[in-house]
Amino acid sequence: MWAFIRNIACSKCGFRGMAEDQGPDEVPARRIFKHQGKTAKGHLLFKCPSCNTVSPYSPFRFIHPAIKYTFFVIVVLSLVVLVKWILTKV
Ligand SMILES: [Zn+2]
Repeated sequence: MWAFIRNIACSKCGFRGMAEDQGPDEVPARRIFKHQGKTAKGHLLFKCPSCNTVSPYSPFRFIHPAIKYTFFVIVVLSLVVLVKWILTKV
């Protein structure tokens, strides 16, 4: 999906690959970080195909920067509208 980034780098050995995903995969298996479930905190667990270390990754790191930026703009605009509304009441 375009909204998500699947690039992933091992926190231990630095190997770069792709997070496992559903659907057709064009990525070679040796570059796939296998999904291993998630932690109690909601972090996603992926297993490095190079050193077999299972590490937690924040789910937010997979969200495309454009989506994060859009969300940020919406929050800022909401604050501006809120502040203006408060100023008209004072
Ligand atoms: Zn590794």
